[in-house]
Amino acid sequence: MSTIAANLTVIQRRIQAAAERSGRNPADITLAAVSKMHSEADIREAYAQGQRHFAENYAQHLRDKAAALCDLSDIRWHFVGHLQRNKIKYVIAARALIETVDSAALAGELDLAAGRAGVCLDCLVQVNIGRETQKSGVSLEEVEPVLTAVESANHLRLQGLMTIPPYDWEPEETRKHFSALRKLRDSIGGIARLPHLSMGMSGDYPEAVEEGATIVRVGTALFGNRN
Ligand SMILES: *Cc1c(COP(=O)(O)O)cnc(C)c1O
Repeated sequence: MSTIAANLTVIQRRIQAAAERSGRNPADITLAAVSKMHSEADIREAYAQGQRHFAENYAQHLRDKAAALCDLSDIRWHFVGHLQRNKIKYVIAARALIETVDSAALAGELDLAAGRAGVCLDCLVQVNIGRETQKSGVSLEEVEPVLTAVESANHLRLQGLMTIPPYDWEPEETRKHFSALRKLRDSIGGIARLPHLSMGMSGDYPEAVEEGATIVRVGTALFGNRN
């Protein structure tokens, strides 16, 4: 078995075990394979093993990979980087799920561009749950106006919340941020309004699943170190 195939099996098993520990259905959790800085060959290999969701954090890389891999008919792209206005066209071409909507202004720009392209975009609002000053994401006070901006846009579909918590070697330390994002979701409309919670990376995705993640974003544990 190749390394990617073996890693994928381990990750799937750990997601399943975490779901079962917390009384959840493993089918409710999507693994987004973060393929940034990894080759198209690596993505094809993961796809051949059944992986369908892939995430990139640079808009041009997303555009280039989506174009090069367009023969993979049911591949689904996620955009997880900071999105600049002038790069919106690239994520639209890939029909990506935008995980990082972080302002009402960006929601407005995405809506205009999606409308011009005649598509509808799925969006998550990125929350700065750890209140880190240098991190992107919406502050807790600003979440509601950004959610409303996405909901009132005709070409955007609000799908939930995403967060990148402060880094910690100890997964138990990040657990409190995952739990805080879930509590925030539950206090502002619950699953009916915000069905998805994207949280958890290579070091802490089992903890994120235990705390309610429906999307985990895993790069290194699947593809190895980035060059
Ligand atoms: C790179 C990245 C990941 C994956 O990180 P790993 O530690 O390699 O699993 C997840 N989410 C975002 C937003 C990223 O930029």
